Amino acid sequence: MPDYDVIIVGAGAGGGIAAAVLAEAGKHVLLLERGGWIDLATTGRDHVRNQRISLYGHNAGPEIDGNPRVYVDPRGEAHTVRPHEGGYNNNAAAVGGGTPVYGAQAWRFMEQDFRMASLYGVPEGSSLADWPITQAELEPHYERAEWQIGVAGEDEGNRFQAPRRKGYPMPPVPPTTSSRILKQGAESLGWSTFPTPLAINTVPRAGRDACIQCDHCVGFPCPSNAKNGTQNTMVPRALATGLCELVIHAMAERIDTDSSGRVTGVSYLVEESGTIARKTATAGVVVSSAGAIETARLLLNSASEMHPGGLGNEHDLVGRNLQGHYYPGAQAMFAEKVYDGQGPGVSISSCQFNHGNAGIVGGGMLSDEFIKLPIIFWYRSLPADVPRWGQANKDWMREAYGRSSQLMGPVQDIPSPDARVTIDPAVRDKHGLPVARLSGTTHPETLKTAEFMRQRAIEWLTASGAIKIWSTPPTLGLSGGQHQAGTCRMGDDPRASVTDKWGRVHGHDNLYVMDASLHVTNGGFNPMLTVMALAFRCSERLAANC
Ligand SMILES: Cc1cc2nc3c(=O)[nH]c(=O)nc-3n(C[C@H](O)[C@H](O)[C@H](O)COP(=O)(O)OP(=O)(O)OC[C@H]3O[C@@H](n4cnc5c(N)ncnc54)[C@H](O)[C@@H]3O)c2cc1C
Ligand code: SF4
Repeated sequence: MPDYDVIIVGAGAGGGIAAAVLAEAGKHVLLLERGGWIDLATTGRDHVRNQRISLYGHNAGPEIDGNPRVYVDPRGEAHTVRPHEGGYNNNAAAVGGGTPVYGAQAWRFMEQDFRMASLYGVPEGSSLADWPITQAELEPHYERAEWQIGVAGEDEGNRFQAPRRKGYPMPPVPPTTSSRILKQGAESLGWSTFPTPLAINTVPRAGRDACIQCDHCVGFPCPSNAKNGTQNTMVPRALATGLCELVIHAMAERIDTDSSGRVTGVSYLVEESGTIARKTATAGVVVSSAGAIETARLLLNSASEMHPGGLGNEHDLVGRNLQGHYYPGAQAMFAEKVYDGQGPGVSISSCQFNHGNAGIVGGGMLSDEFIKLPIIFWYRSLPADVPRWGQANKDWMREAYGRSSQLMGPVQDIPSPDARVTIDPAVRDKHGLPVARLSGTTHPETLKTAEFMRQRAIEWLTASGAIKIWSTPPTLGLSGGQHQAGTCRMGDDPRASVTDKWGRVHGHDNLYVMDASLHVTNGGFNPMLTVMALAFRCSERLAANC
């Protein structure tokens, strides 16, 4: 008898949902999470050490020391980098994964996002493909994610969205001064806008308070626990069953297989009273929900005699097609004060240009932005002609901070098979495990889409009455980061995909992936709600069959 019905690696967006669905279906679950529980008391509010801007450190893991990755830049030079440094492409390592500190934008992908290759053809050198499922097949699971996690939005606001059977469980966040101005600008262009959907309690819900519009949001845990992630919804539900055992600070080392190649369980390293213990647990089924970079690393690090290239990697596909999002946009200064300084900040969006743009593959969504820490404004948003230091800089900051706004959004990343996660041959982490090596760039077609959307942001800001607009054209690079996805894409053909359409790894009847790795393409939207909808879909099916 195995120790557990199911072992899940990673208690993030995907893993937290799988744990609750399986435990509530009566399965005995072991949930391994390399990070711990975090809240504002543990993370603090350091403006230069957080998951939004990590100049000197970060606040939601993994630990700075002992967890390197190798990043190969577009010139081919390899750099060993720590989690808060550029090139690492960190999301987070905590119960809830990225969700305790995320911005909570909660988007459904559009119907077209699931059939990009059929709609646009496959650009030369890219691995653009259709999903093996349609938006309509995922729609009931989007609905479950919206209602069980808790999303605030306007039901009929987005006229480009695919049909939905049910509205949002909560009303949208209130408009801000800048969103009112931007709405008028969009209307003058004939563009449609609507309130940004957010996984935030706009009214008290599920025993937790409503948002108090604090002055920190993205990058930090929420002071009123109104930001909804798996850490305050699905993981507690899983634990409440008494059937889910969560082990924190537990790093899965490898997925174990027997001499026939069948998956038997997971070996992991856990911190116990200051020492590291190596443990093995057996299970009928193993689910990897470690995020797109670490799931690829785990499958590759689980190589055995029967699977010398790693699990699910018979066709050298694990780790390929790494995608995130280019996030083009523009900054603008207005004649009057437009910035309210209240969270969450983001409140208006447009899907006018997600598809149907002549000569462009896909497109993207545009929104105003999250609440901006002054240091982020200084670090990322200064026009080229403004001094970086001294009195002139201070004067400009005082004047411009409250009069500025911005528009930006994620564009369809066009996948490239050469953008990939492999195992570095030399660098090891503090446990002696080979680390992820990230290399390649997004496909050049992504740049065209990004530049097109940058121009749309400029056009919208101009129509809204901005007196000065500035931005930087996109350049070619690796795309992953907090929206990392695609490294174990799902599909019907085992020679062209890593899992089937239920997240089951081809060639294995008891190994699953349930996280952003499954995304065939990453939509022109922030990805979390799709990660969650897929986790509902795949784990409900697994619960019925294991
Ligand atoms: C600051 C920030 C803002 C964001 N804003 C948004 C937003 O507004 N909207 C949106 O859609 N998305 C947003 N995201 C991204 C979102 O958080 C991710 O898309 C989502 O969390 C991905 O889910 P996942 O299940 O693939 O991975 P994760 O949520 O990252 O979960 C993976 C988990 O696995 C654990 N793990 C990894 N390896 C191991 C191992 N070997 N053993 C044990 N545990 C392991 C990790 O610690 C982690 O907790 C944001 C992220 C951040 C950090
Ligand atoms: S703005 Fe609202 S949801 Fe965001 S952290 Fe502050 S209180 Fe929480």
